[in-house]
Amino acid sequence: MRTPGLLLDLDGTLFIGTDWIPGARQALARLQRRGHRAVYVSNTLDWPEDIAARLNDAGLPTPTDDIVHVPRVLIDYLQQHHPGAAVYVIGERSLIDQMRPHVRLSADPEEIDVVVASADLAFDFSKLTVAFLALRRGARLIATNTDATWPGPSGLVPDTGAILGAIEGCTGRRQEVVVGKPSRWMAQAALRRLGLPPEKVWVVGDSLATDVRMGKENGMTAALVLTGVTSRADLSGANPQPDHVLESFADLPDLLASLQDT
Ligand SMILES: [Mg+2]
Repeated sequence: MRTPGLLLDLDGTLFIGTDWIPGARQALARLQRRGHRAVYVSNTLDWPEDIAARLNDAGLPTPTDDIVHVPRVLIDYLQQHHPGAAVYVIGERSLIDQMRPHVRLSADPEEIDVVVASADLAFDFSKLTVAFLALRRGARLIATNTDATWPGPSGLVPDTGAILGAIEGCTGRRQEVVVGKPSRWMAQAALRRLGLPPEKVWVVGDSLATDVRMGKENGMTAALVLTGVTSRADLSGANPQPDHVLESFADLPDLLASLQDT
């Protein structure tokens, strides 16, 4: 195995909040010097420019297009599968602002073709009613992710699962497509950017449900790091299992070097 490409998770793998995980920055620089190409794959709704700036500031030159995140994959999906559709988005401002230049947004239930459900701190009954009326008319329902909760700075808060629950409660409808990790839409977008076949790619992340699953379901090698949401105890009975388990991303260069030497 020669210098596999890397699909890297951000939160819990390279960063905790805005802080680098100890040794992760140096490890990433070392991997890039050795010729490992890296693309970043995240369920974040943040602007990719902000994420790229964080990497650039750390001395790791990163074009914005190397950030494969939910808004980008969602826009690609809509353009490919619902070109010209009127789209209603329940979601945070950063998601809506990133979609606006590329997708026809509408809040008119009479013309909405697609409802996008995502976490929204300003979610209320009137937004639910727009979605309800549009879905009753036959609009499609797409979710950015299905997580019930999200670990905020002061503890767990509701995530997209809560919005989907409210929609299902009044329409009986569930999402037809989920675009975020571990979806194949996310995997395909990231592999296209990397320009490598899946068998030459490692996914590295802290989540069994998203990172490891996306890797294993799409023919890649999956490495789990224990610096985020997963502890070693969570591994027993997990399916699928990661191919490698690392205490930290900082350990990845040595592992890859030892495999290359054999
Ligand atoms: Mg993560």
